[in-house]
Amino acid sequence: MSDTRCRRCLLRELEAGAQLYESVRAYRAELPAAERTEDGEYARRLALCLDCRHLKNATCVQCGCFVELRAAKSAVRCPMGRW
Ligand code: SF4
Repeated sequence: MSDTRCRRCLLRELEAGAQLYESVRAYRAELPAAERTEDGEYARRLALCLDCRHLKNATCVQCGCFVELRAAKSAVRCPMGRW
């Protein structure tokens, strides 16, 4: 039997992640503008995560964070230097 689990998705794409995704969205929306990653940069970061072998089920296995959460703060960086 093949493994059909999504290993390289974001919370927004995981049915089981819907509630967490809403929490992450709310967290990002409430960040002060000076701390929040701007929309275009946020999308760029997530695109890089989607193309990264360290992304498993919305989580970066290098840092243990949900990537949509980690990418939300502009001062926070990818642990592997990709963004
Ligand atoms: S935060 Fe960096 S290492 Fe982790 S999944 Fe995203 S690009 Fe890959």
